[in-house]
Amino acid sequence: MCHHQYRFLTLSARMKTNTFTNHPPVIQVAADNPPLVAPIYQSVKFSFDDLHEAERHGRGERAGYAYSRIDNPTLQLLQQTLATLQGREHCLLAPSGVAAVSLTLQSLCKQGDHLIVFAEGYGPTRVMVRRVLARFGVRHTVLSIEDHAGIERVLSSTPTRLMTFESPTNPMLKIADVDFLCRLAQQHGCLTVMDNTLAGLHAHGQYPVDVYVHSLTKYANGHGDVLAGAVITNESLHAQLRTDFIAMGAMLDPHAAFLIQRGLKTYGLRYERACQNALAVAQFLEQHPAVSTVHYPGLTSHPQYVLAMQQTGNGGGVVTFSLRGATDTANDCVRKLKLFKLAASLGSTESLVLPPMMLQARDLNAEQQSWAGIGDTTVRLSIGIEEIADLLADLAQALG
Ligand SMILES: *Cc1c(COP(=O)(O)O)cnc(C)c1O
Repeated sequence: MCHHQYRFLTLSARMKTNTFTNHPPVIQVAADNPPLVAPIYQSVKFSFDDLHEAERHGRGERAGYAYSRIDNPTLQLLQQTLATLQGREHCLLAPSGVAAVSLTLQSLCKQGDHLIVFAEGYGPTRVMVRRVLARFGVRHTVLSIEDHAGIERVLSSTPTRLMTFESPTNPMLKIADVDFLCRLAQQHGCLTVMDNTLAGLHAHGQYPVDVYVHSLTKYANGHGDVLAGAVITNESLHAQLRTDFIAMGAMLDPHAAFLIQRGLKTYGLRYERACQNALAVAQFLEQHPAVSTVHYPGLTSHPQYVLAMQQTGNGGGVVTFSLRGATDTANDCVRKLKLFKLAASLGSTESLVLPPMMLQARDLNAEQQSWAGIGDTTVRLSIGIEEIADLLADLAQALG
């Protein structure tokens, strides 16, 4: 007994080859026989059996899909997964983390609005605000994330549409006081946009942040083979963001969404292992004579250790340290590392290193750079999931 609906025998009688290959059979999987891994709906279009149903869908009277720039089941699965991880209702996807930031800011701001950005924040976010949004008449103030009095002063004197911040900051791993910032912003009618990439999708959900932005390229995917971004909110902001995101047309591809979904299976294990490794690396560096300072929120010596433990309960997967001596000592160390690959980005399974020259924010003036605190001998490590003994041995030989 053959269960297949089509048999090759029927081809010549019913259709010519080129017709048939463009109208192939549809395989239906019964609801009581689901695949364990969700399929990739790599289809731009979805069809309707009759015009009436297509019209009802167009009017929003029935569920379904029409076009993958607007909605797609593979994307929807990822959206629901990410929203749940972050403890919110809605998620929108973008083709990179920077696209997620940029679409969010474009959607939430209009001409004449004022924003607060931070010297310690992610560089491309500031470039978006200072270079692109400025052309559309959006103003901004650059502050230090540590300058609570300054933030309060600006919010009191200037109506501010939103502030965008991170915790831990990259690369100096300062901890933003998330509760303080959210409450202060709320008092002044200012939205909070938190780039939660470093802390992760499981972090900071307990705070009244209005919009979480993530680069899924980092810990969510974890394997360094796909770019993606997410924007996670509650109901109140979702409708506007969704309508604007669709209008701006930057949608994630279903295959990329599938790879993120697959990466998420080991997200918790990878993040936990990276944190364990990072703590051991930070402890090793702290007692090494060539190292002057270690910046890692999981060390009790970090000035915001208690706040970090309250907010996320871990130090994260990035360790930054400064060496004694001149810039050359840092470059020497970077050159000698073998396991740690010299490469941008973070949050992958393999460990990475960046030298001082590649950490400095170029859009900031000297005073703002001093707030950020990146020194001439500052080195950033993104810690992977390798065996800790191998990572420590590599660092030991590189530090001499
Ligand atoms: C990497 C990163 C981004 C940008 O993500 P892409 O996916 O590379 O575009 C945004 N914010 C932070 C904090 C990041 O580390």
